[in-house]
Amino acid sequence: MNATAYIALGANLGDRRDTFVRAVRKLTAEHAATWRASSSLYETSAVGGPAGQPDYLNAVVSIATRLPPHDLLDALLQIERLHGRRRDVRHGPRTLDLDLLLYDDCVIADDRLQVPHPRAHLRSFVLAPLVEIAPKLVHPRLGLTVTQLLARLENAEHLRPCAGPEWIADATLSTQHSALST
Ligand code: AMP
Repeated sequence: MNATAYIALGANLGDRRDTFVRAVRKLTAEHAATWRASSSLYETSAVGGPAGQPDYLNAVVSIATRLPPHDLLDALLQIERLHGRRRDVRHGPRTLDLDLLLYDDCVIADDRLQVPHPRAHLRSFVLAPLVEIAPKLVHPRLGLTVTQLLARLENAEHLRPCAGPEWIADATLSTQHSALST
């Protein structure tokens, strides 16, 4: 049976949109996952880390997958590495950041994986795209919808919508034949 997972994408180096397209294409073509929905693309200023970083591009996608949560995390980390992701500067610039936000209504907290993602409910650049694609989605640990969580957010980062959800079209075209039966 397939689970529904929500994944946040972030990048502030390179061709950020092209990186997102290639990451989703890779995930759906090689990792037992089917694309379900994508948010618009948003731009945000970098928070924390070295001064003068380029702006981030952010989005959220949902997938249906047969991968168990830890295997999905491994797939995301592998795709980050393929895009040259390095972890030498905390909050430093990055070619690709993939976070597993939610996996069905699972609550997981071990030394490798925390789901829901521990900072998802604190970030407008995660919550706003989530609200766009799944406004009634309930955070299984907090018991509130993502819409309620976004409304409660104080000091939200300013988001600049910069492309509609059709950016994903390039990524999904090549995966139609590999779609999973649900
Ligand atoms: P980051 O540098 O913020 O991308 O953190 C990546 C590390 O966080 C990975 O090595 C994961 O083991 C760990 N991690 C824990 N929970 C999650 C999650 N929900 N999504 C992605 N990474 C996670």
